[in-house]
Amino acid sequence: MSFNLATMLTESRSGSPDKPLCHFGDLTFSYAQVDEISGRVAASLRGLGLARGDKVAVHLPNLPQFLFSYFGILKAGLVMVPLNPLLRAAEIAYHLEDSGAKVLVTYQSFAAEAVKAASEVDGVTTFVVTLPGSDQPLDGTRHYDELYAAENTGDVEPANADDTAVLIYTSGTTGHPKGAELTHFQLYMNCTVSGELFGFQDDDIGVAVLPLFHVFGLSSVLNVCVRFGGTIVLIPRFEAGTVLDAIERHRCTVFAGVPTMYYALAHEDLTGRDVSSLRVGSSGGAAIPGETIRLFEEKFAGVVILEGYGLSETASTTTFNISAEQRKVLSIGKPIWGVQVRVVDEDGTPLPPGPDNVGEIVIRGHNVMKGYHNRPQETAEAFRGGWFHTGDLAYADEDGYLFVVDRKKDLIIRGGYNVYPREIEEVLYTHPAIGEAAVIGRADDKLGEEVVAIVSPASDAPVDTAAVIEYCRERLASYKYPREVRVVAELPKGPTGKILKKELR
Ligand code: AMP
Repeated sequence: MSFNLATMLTESRSGSPDKPLCHFGDLTFSYAQVDEISGRVAASLRGLGLARGDKVAVHLPNLPQFLFSYFGILKAGLVMVPLNPLLRAAEIAYHLEDSGAKVLVTYQSFAAEAVKAASEVDGVTTFVVTLPGSDQPLDGTRHYDELYAAENTGDVEPANADDTAVLIYTSGTTGHPKGAELTHFQLYMNCTVSGELFGFQDDDIGVAVLPLFHVFGLSSVLNVCVRFGGTIVLIPRFEAGTVLDAIERHRCTVFAGVPTMYYALAHEDLTGRDVSSLRVGSSGGAAIPGETIRLFEEKFAGVVILEGYGLSETASTTTFNISAEQRKVLSIGKPIWGVQVRVVDEDGTPLPPGPDNVGEIVIRGHNVMKGYHNRPQETAEAFRGGWFHTGDLAYADEDGYLFVVDRKKDLIIRGGYNVYPREIEEVLYTHPAIGEAAVIGRADDKLGEEVVAIVSPASDAPVDTAAVIEYCRERLASYKYPREVRVVAELPKGPTGKILKKELR
């Protein structure tokens, strides 16, 4: 069976060719235009002599050219390798070598590192998307416009359901970045099922501020939009004011973000703004504190946040809270259709429901990757007993809702007791002086690890750390509350906006 993911673009185009697929600043591209331009990109890539299954690395922020490249690569039967534009040359070179990419598409603002990387790897042709008004290709590179030169034949290379469509890099639970191989079928199923559950309609207008090089943005924002014939507003970098401007200008109806984005939006002044078009937000990528949900929903009256959970390895969504009526705050919801989730002990034995039965989340179903590119050992390790092991700790309740307590590697063991940072962070978020919070373990001679909270202030007022410790002591068991609180202006965040505990440690 032919199963090219790009057919969702051609299908939506045939229904409504003139409908805007994306807005970017003052530019708008319709379905017909994205279909046409990506068809030219596909023909140009074929013209370079690339063969089915060859890899093309796309090192772009959220720009229209991301869409043209993505659908062009898919139509040509090639494999998309999305890369974070903030990677440094050595990191880009690693990804190019590991994936075996033959073509690299980069953006002028980030091209210096990319070009340096490409010069260190054999056989990579680099195309540069230039800044508006600039047509200067860098030495040894070609202008992205050359990829528009070939004529669009309308051809879409037939793919088998299990052909890899996207190779997406993730550190997974351990070690260096590995390429998770996501197939045409997995990505198609995931956006179909999760979009349906989310109730995404063709008249929805989404904010695309999550990076499209990350699975959450790629699958749950871009693919869902195209699959259901909606519209997205591309925003290359999160800034709360920019997001609010986009919501007002384009009457956006849906928002997808990581918890830190909801936190920032909840603290914006909405006076004089009309954000009434917004109806729903989906949160994922990290646990969203109950307090952030409360603050956001208070400020954006009528908007509900629905939390989901997933990984790069699971083509995005694995579990979801499907509606306001059926959601449970602090839960990641229930498995989506066609996906099985279990909570297991160290031996792989399923655990019964209940908050005392915390184990590792393992997953099986249409959304789970084929494996890690060229890494049979790590793939076998991740798929013990036929289930994909996530490294996330959780429990289920009697209704089948799952509650993530933490990453396995974030677990703190203090004096022999398991301390889940998330539980303490939930308390810290309710403290009026605290903005954002992260809890980590610090090596301790006596206890093995000690609990340390790192917080940012909610306002200009100083944070009284002794009072914060006391606040936690009153609300948490004695082995859990933090003995040390450190205040920083801002917590370090990764490209999607997730708080980076690794850096804090
Ligand atoms: P990534 O591969 O970058 O998408 O990261 C996947 C990881 O993000 C998961 O293994 C979880 O640790 C974390 N994650 C995603 N969604 C949630 C959520 N709703 N609650 C808690 N952790 C989450």
